Amino acid sequence: MCIFCDIASGKVPTEIIYQDDLVAAFADINPLVPTHILIVPKEHIASVNDLPETDEGEKLAGRLLVVAKKLAKEQGIAEGGYKLLLRTGSHGGQEVPHIHLHLLGGGKMKEGIGLAN
Ligand code: AMP
Ligand code: ZN
Repeated sequence: MCIFCDIASGKVPTEIIYQDDLVAAFADINPLVPTHILIVPKEHIASVNDLPETDEGEKLAGRLLVVAKKLAKEQGIAEGGYKLLLRTGSHGGQEVPHIHLHLLGGGKMKEGIGLAN
């Protein structure tokens, strides 16, 4: 259905850093910081706007966060700290229309929040 569906399902060969029944994680193709991992639902859900308001939706949202926490530890960035970013829609700067939680770390990061010009 989209590039992240293809990566998560193994259709496009990519090194999968982590996967379970609900989510998959892989390195961002254009890393902005030394550790830049994307965690995505295996099911195609376009954005947070489309996250079901059900127990399943809450479980998936929680899984994304818990996997980010686990990977941060595995990648050795938990102690130094990291940023989790979930862009949504045009104003949020979302480019790929399949939910992806960015795990960003490996060094002190810039602030970078504010309206564009
Ligand atoms: P966003 O702006 O939040 O939608 O982020 C999309 C992210 O997906 C960007 O950081 C891209 O570098 C990344 N990206 C796009 N295509 C791929 C791909 N084929 N494999 C890994 N990362 C990708
Ligand atoms: Zn998709």
